[in-house]
Amino acid sequence: MQIAPLPAPVRPDPVRDRWTDAMRLAIDEAALATATGDVPVGALVFGPDGTVIGRGHNEREAVGDPTAHAEVVAIRQAAAALGEWRLAGCTLVVTLEPCTMCAGAIVLARVGRVVYGAYDDKAGAAGSLLDVLRDPRLNHRPEVIHGVLATPCADQLRTFFDAHR
Ligand SMILES: [Zn+2]
Repeated sequence: MQIAPLPAPVRPDPVRDRWTDAMRLAIDEAALATATGDVPVGALVFGPDGTVIGRGHNEREAVGDPTAHAEVVAIRQAAAALGEWRLAGCTLVVTLEPCTMCAGAIVLARVGRVVYGAYDDKAGAAGSLLDVLRDPRLNHRPEVIHGVLATPCADQLRTFFDAHR
């Protein structure tokens, strides 16, 4: 007779668990990028009331624009939806740690909170290589929650790069 092994215990993580559903939506958004050969990164902006007011996926190849990162696309859409450039009280959820440009845009937009998934050791500007979002010398510092569904987010990128090598 065999006794089935117990499932691995899942440790609750109240800070990150709150954002897993949102991150799954960002992963779905990221998947749209691959249709045009773009690296799958997806971002959503939630307004102060919790509704999605901006979404974007990386579309550098699609539109031939080096600045068309998921976060920038989503921030532009959110600002248009709100009718102003300040995204105070908004939360940006993105599958990959923001780069220097995107972290800069997040600070300029006064985004209240940033939630990201996979870490980017080579270009991340939210803790890995630089920490633009929490630099005390800057006049705005969003709350940062990192590593939400980090493994699925990283796997999505790895699958893409494995197929495009
Ligand atoms: Zn970026």
